[in-house]
Amino acid sequence: MIGIASVLERIACPNCSCVALEDFYYKIGETYILCNRCGYQYARELKLGPDRKERFEENEIIGFGCSQIVNKDGSTEREIFREPISSDTIQQFRYEWNKGTTNQEKSFLLSFENGIFTPLIGTPPKDFLKPYDEIEDPQRESIIIGSDGTISLE
Ligand SMILES: [Zn+2]
Repeated sequence: MIGIASVLERIACPNCSCVALEDFYYKIGETYILCNRCGYQYARELKLGPDRKERFEENEIIGFGCSQIVNKDGSTEREIFREPISSDTIQQFRYEWNKGTTNQEKSFLLSFENGIFTPLIGTPPKDFLKPYDEIEDPQRESIIIGSDGTISLE
């Protein structure tokens, strides 16, 4: 098998304290964090500097929430937001939500601002926003890797 060895672990999100995924490439020291609740993203990557020496570069994106549309055929579309959710986004989501093909019970639009989650449309699953510390065995949460390479937690 070819590939860079990495350890995929669940950690408490530095932004919202829910379960986030950490992908740590232990041989080279690169780290990626992705939170599917608040949308927080973090990357620590080796980059070549102007002096041609490698150094670590850190990038952090504070998230503003997420959305999930589950279709009646079972397919799921997820999104995380890098900016506060706009009224345009709410309107667009409401349109999707009202389509006959949407499973409204499982679909939701959730904002995260100033440390507070607010469901704007729909209701997230019961344990979706449970803090990492209160989950009995967070490591057992299953990981779903989408065809587009996005990683999510169920
Ligand atoms: Zn988070």
